[in-house]
Amino acid sequence: MSTKYKRGSFQLMKSMNRSIILNMIREEGPISRADIAKQTRLTPPTVSNIVKELISTQFVIETTQGVSKGGRKPTLLAINADQFYTLGVDVGTLQMKFVVTNLYGQLKDHTSLDIAPFPSHEDILNTMKKGIHQLLNSEKNEKEKFLGIGVGMHGIVDPGEGVSLFAPAFQLHNIPIKQVLEEEFDMIVKVENDARTMTLGEYWFGHGNDADNMVGVNVGNGIGAGMMVKGRLFHGENNLAGEIGHITIDLSGPRCTCGNYGCLQTLAAGPAIAERAKKDLKAGRASIIRDLVEGDFEKVDGKIVYEAAMQNDEFSIELLNQTGRYLGIGLTNLIHTMNPKRIIVGGGVSKAGRFLMDGIEETIQSRGLTEKAKETSIVLSKLGEHGSAIGACVLVLEEFFVRQE
Ligand SMILES: [Zn+2]
Repeated sequence: MSTKYKRGSFQLMKSMNRSIILNMIREEGPISRADIAKQTRLTPPTVSNIVKELISTQFVIETTQGVSKGGRKPTLLAINADQFYTLGVDVGTLQMKFVVTNLYGQLKDHTSLDIAPFPSHEDILNTMKKGIHQLLNSEKNEKEKFLGIGVGMHGIVDPGEGVSLFAPAFQLHNIPIKQVLEEEFDMIVKVENDARTMTLGEYWFGHGNDADNMVGVNVGNGIGAGMMVKGRLFHGENNLAGEIGHITIDLSGPRCTCGNYGCLQTLAAGPAIAERAKKDLKAGRASIIRDLVEGDFEKVDGKIVYEAAMQNDEFSIELLNQTGRYLGIGLTNLIHTMNPKRIIVGGGVSKAGRFLMDGIEETIQSRGLTEKAKETSIVLSKLGEHGSAIGACVLVLEEFFVRQE
């Protein structure tokens, strides 16, 4: 029998006004009741009633750090950040990452588990359950603090039903994540594509918070994008929007897992970097990678190429620059398709940072249609390796915090 977790004593906040006030305190707090009323155009008694409820449910606390304008110091309101936690899961191709964050998206705990090779539906769901139980049972984390669980899953996801429709790395269809985790843990469970959760995380807590039109590009073993349009994730008609890993860059390029040739991810994802390095090394190119892998080219992966580049290895630096130029073509296509204010590059390959950015910027400079297109801000992810998992936590927070339109 599985362990059941008791729901917290809070009520799910269904009132729009309550959520708007909560979000205002989150984004602008410490803030006074009067300022909330002014900015939301709600009446002072409405604000006062809702604030009373937010204080009694412990989402909000009163502080007295306001600056006095002559009389007594005004009482200000702030988010009770560590009173509630959310749990986020990032399901990659080889590993699952699990994080615990507070109401400000700050990392409180984390762990990771390897995914079995050629996993079944049960393998995936059991690994998820195991990691979640591990964090919920940790002495560091009080179970009753948890508001819910968010899952960022690679591939095509139906966020409404909480189902992974197709996970290409596992070749699995229709994994009922939401249903199984809700039964196991008796909490809110939200499921979304991992590139979209990364984008959501950056929008709330990272480099995206001033950009309502932006894209997050997740470059790891595959490549995916989360597109934010007017502050909302864009899914398209069948949840396919953002599959930029499979836009064709080179008609006669390498064959992709999807069956087509020359997809962006066959040129710029982690395995593609390793493959190109192996091919050139076998052909005799000079590089310190030979020493790093002690002559065994099967050990070459993206990480080793990056390590070599850090040691000023000309071959590796050029390889990562070239990867950046391929990514730059993909990003130029995105700029010309949706004209975002900012593009945030995250995922494992983004660790190569500067080496990639040189190639990306060079390509956008030479191919951008207008000066404005060329000026599009391209930045590396702020949340780093836990970005998708922290963004999965935001899926839960979104249930409690709503922005005023
Ligand atoms: Zn493809």
